[in-house]
Amino acid sequence: MLYIQNFIGGELTAPLAENWIENIDPSTGAVYSFIPDSDQRDVQRAVGSARSAFPAWSTTSAEARHDILIRLSGLIERDLEQLAQAESVDQGKPVSLAREVDIPRAVANFKFYATAAMHIANESHDTVGRNAINYTLRQPLGVVGCISPWNLPLYLFTWKIAPALAAGCTVVAKPSEVTPMTAYLLSKLCSEAGLPAGVLNVVHGTGPKVGSAIVANPDVKAISFTGGTKTGEEIARIAAPMFKKLSLELGGKNPNIIFADCNYDEMLTTTVRSSFSNQGEICLCGSRIFVEKPLYDRFRRDFVERVSVLRVGDPRKPDTDVGAIVSKQHFDKVMSYIELAKEEGGTILIGGKQANLDGRGADGWFIEPTVVEGLPFDCRTNQEEIFGPVVTIQPFDSEEEVLGYANSVRYGLSATVWTESLSRAHRVAAMLESGIVWINCWLLRDLRTPFGGVKDSGVGREGGFEALRFFTEEKNVCIRIL
Ligand code: NDP
Repeated sequence: MLYIQNFIGGELTAPLAENWIENIDPSTGAVYSFIPDSDQRDVQRAVGSARSAFPAWSTTSAEARHDILIRLSGLIERDLEQLAQAESVDQGKPVSLAREVDIPRAVANFKFYATAAMHIANESHDTVGRNAINYTLRQPLGVVGCISPWNLPLYLFTWKIAPALAAGCTVVAKPSEVTPMTAYLLSKLCSEAGLPAGVLNVVHGTGPKVGSAIVANPDVKAISFTGGTKTGEEIARIAAPMFKKLSLELGGKNPNIIFADCNYDEMLTTTVRSSFSNQGEICLCGSRIFVEKPLYDRFRRDFVERVSVLRVGDPRKPDTDVGAIVSKQHFDKVMSYIELAKEEGGTILIGGKQANLDGRGADGWFIEPTVVEGLPFDCRTNQEEIFGPVVTIQPFDSEEEVLGYANSVRYGLSATVWTESLSRAHRVAAMLESGIVWINCWLLRDLRTPFGGVKDSGVGREGGFEALRFFTEEKNVCIRIL
């Protein structure tokens, strides 16, 4: 059985206390490896090694940082198949998705920030009439903490680490204890890419032990966190009195608004994807589908028919559309929301049950893609994040009405709008309380764009130069010309 190791000071090491946690394959329910149950002492070691590495890394030229990060990107690409298989086993997602989305995106994250490091520029202000020039220095913060969730493990882990390293910071990172495998494989590639010892440290373990020790450590100057809103609140409570910089990418309950004048075929195909990709375990999935009344019956019929042919199955099979739910705990949570939807008066149009597989997946945690109808916009099912293969559908009459529904939740991460009317698209986009709006598409990502949410979906934006700036402190220098 494999024992995953921490990566501290450039070396793969066991946790100091020699305690381990079982790592379970969600498609079989069986333990298939162990991960370090690290504690505050392991975090302290990692912070120490990141501190020692900081002076040299922060003064390494942008070109040299670029070269190392590009090599890392190339090594992930070289090992794409192995990483995709590992991600699929660890997370439960179809291997085809890991191959086409997760791992290529990790490659792209390093590529993007390797080159961004060479292109970022600082402002200079010519203070005309007062004989002065002001310029801005952006200096790397020091040691920073990166904490990521289980839904897109390597994709989101690297989305934080790449800009931090490119900006010249050294990092203590923690992947989710539920999906540690690809972060472990990445740490092995770091040495091969020539990343100096201590620049990236990966400490495995639980949130309450390892995550909170990273957040509480006074030598960690900033926290970049992606995960649940409740965890984000806790992190903010600990970090705020120390005035740490915080980037919090939190939960969502995203609306998918379909107007009758949309491009129907395109909308239908994409809506199946935006509802059930990665078992609905993507923070950007549209879980509340609002359909303009003239289109409602047609949509309801066609959508249910398209969902009925989705194949729930072994994530390793190439034709599987919907894989396993990431853990027993999360499986129970999603199933409890399906029960809640029924209690609240919803009608299950399709799905609503555990999917029972034969053979290898017999003891795994699979849920049928589920569509619920007949619930009011303000019930708990329509207000709380489920984060699984469950969507609700609801008709609406007017733009004003649907905007009220869409904006009624505490979250504001993303929204999708389907319409062929240019004016309506702009109007609705401006009115949605949401960090990201997709018009006639979904998950069409350009890494230069600001990514993040409003309201309880978070604070700060990732992506583009903004993420590099987050990991730096600005200093204004004013020079008087005598
Ligand atoms: P959690 O908040 O449970 O965990 C996220 C990470 O934080 C994990 O590494 C976790 O460790 C760690 N953690 C847990 N408790 C603490 C703590 N007290 N202090 C510091 N770290 C802690 O989220 P999930 O992993 O369950 O991920 C799902 C959530 O992530 C959903 O709400 C989803 O919407 C959100 N998400 C948001 C995205 C966005 O961009 N806005 C993108 C993707 C997901 P461990 O798992 O080991 O306990």
